Amino acid sequence: MDYPVIAKPDISQLKAHPNLDDYAGARATFQWDSIREELDGLPGGGLNLAYEAVDRHLKTARRTKTAMIWEGKNGEEERYTFEQMAGQSNRFANVLAGLGIQKGDRVFIFAERFPELYFAVFGTLKRGAVIGPLFSAFGPDPVKDRLEDSGAKVLITTPDLRERVKDILPQLPELKHIIIMNKNGRFKDALKPGDLSFEDLMAKASDQFQIEATQETDYSIMHYTSGTTGKPKGAVHCHRAVLGHYATGKWALDLQDQDIYWCTADPGWVTGTSYGISAPWTNGATQLIYEGGFSANRWYSLIDKYKVTVWYTAPTAIRLLMKAGEAAVKRHDVSSLRHICSVGEPLNPEAVVWGTRVFDQAIHDNWWQTETGHILVANYPAMDVRPGSMGRPIPGVEVAIVNVETGAILPPGTDGDLAVKPPWPGMFQMYWRNEAMYNSKFKNGWYITGDRAHMDADGYFWFVGRTDDVINTAGHLVGPFEVESALIEHPAVAEAGVIGKPDPIAMEVVKAFVSLKDGYEPSEPLRQELMRFARQKLAAAVAPREIDFLPSLPKTRSGKIMRRLLKARELGLPEGDTSTLEDD
Ligand code: AMP
Repeated sequence: MDYPVIAKPDISQLKAHPNLDDYAGARATFQWDSIREELDGLPGGGLNLAYEAVDRHLKTARRTKTAMIWEGKNGEEERYTFEQMAGQSNRFANVLAGLGIQKGDRVFIFAERFPELYFAVFGTLKRGAVIGPLFSAFGPDPVKDRLEDSGAKVLITTPDLRERVKDILPQLPELKHIIIMNKNGRFKDALKPGDLSFEDLMAKASDQFQIEATQETDYSIMHYTSGTTGKPKGAVHCHRAVLGHYATGKWALDLQDQDIYWCTADPGWVTGTSYGISAPWTNGATQLIYEGGFSANRWYSLIDKYKVTVWYTAPTAIRLLMKAGEAAVKRHDVSSLRHICSVGEPLNPEAVVWGTRVFDQAIHDNWWQTETGHILVANYPAMDVRPGSMGRPIPGVEVAIVNVETGAILPPGTDGDLAVKPPWPGMFQMYWRNEAMYNSKFKNGWYITGDRAHMDADGYFWFVGRTDDVINTAGHLVGPFEVESALIEHPAVAEAGVIGKPDPIAMEVVKAFVSLKDGYEPSEPLRQELMRFARQKLAAAVAPREIDFLPSLPKTRSGKIMRRLLKARELGLPEGDTSTLEDD
């Protein structure tokens, strides 16, 4: 079914004049230097994300403005001004300096969303170290892979999460310090021998700090992202990415001084840092941070209570809200919302139209990925929305559909590889310790995103699918190899093959096929045991939702498990070319 275009609103009727009111004009003339001029740069020269997001506002009326409103899981509320954020992050920068942490060292944080996480992120950046946020739902295996690969020197975590991953910690020789955050003394006996107390260190540290004179290309944040083969790779960004966060926060999220902004993403994923930390605060907005997870009723009541104006969420959440029904929205006053955006997975056109009915406005889809660092394709508030389209490229960046073999740009309407012309401000600088993999992503003058899409005659981009086996479950990319590796550690499992199975809410769920070692028989208790095993090692978000037993898995003659075939069989689709299949 074709969905009619949602015509751009009459700008004079909008609650706020959009920052980007002339898309075509901006595309034609924009230069990144102009954004660099809107930012301050460090007083002594250089560029530091934390300074742009926090400290530069202290010279203006924003000094005493509320930067963060935090609501805890149990309804606690705390508020912090930009000045308080600056002081607290200075303290943490001093803590790191006192521990001997140097510029470029990796500091990882594995914690729920509470204010101290944000102080630690900014403090790390001020010290000139690289911050690596970890998704708080991860189990021990993903945490170990990331800490080991990055050679992290510091892990900041909480007593409960430390307990979850305690067995892997002694296996990390490069990890020198474990700093435990005990938010409002929630845990008794929070510290294990050798641990440092975040609260004690902060209390003793000065709130004055001279920010490290980082340059634009110095590393700032690293996020691990899944590929088809091998373990997740650490995509490393540099301080220059702040230009892209700031600009797209302005254009795509339309952030303005008066806004109360809420990003529902966890800072363990890139949306939660680029748009849950950098974009809102570089734009001087007030940000709501909610510690808890999804609940339709709670979410609507938060919008109502804090009068959220700009909201950035994800398709899985929107589908869950749609499932909760319109009556759930009507119980609350959500009329403060003036701009709604979504990212992470294809946003169903029905969801865009649903938004116009229940929120009286379109939900604005946008596209980007860990490696791009910030939004590159978006629907903007002053532009027609085509439901189902990811929108149009941001000013200052060339995005195209290309033939990956030749680099040629394909004509409108043709499916091909979604590609970006390097460089752009948020472009990842490397995959940590994996130069070959990094280089393989650039071909014929393009960065190849791994997504297939097409562009229509008016320059709107439409997502088609992934070009690889990576699974997108509820907006989280899961590498099948990671799950397969966990499963084959179970003594009963001989081989494992993992695919994404379509799901009406999460888009895909992780499904595993396993063959068993001699002496083991398929059974329901064994299936349950394998599910538990995988959940305990990985995380509920990553572990398989379904496991099927097969006598053996289809493999190529070189022994690679053919996930494509497992998927085709699961979905009852044609099996395609099986000429490389191993003979049974
Ligand atoms: P990540 O690197 O974890 O942020 O995931 C990025 C991937 O999520 C992209 O390469 C796409 O496959 C998918 N994705 C992100 N945004 C969208 C969108 N608006 N529409 C379709 N897929 C998306």
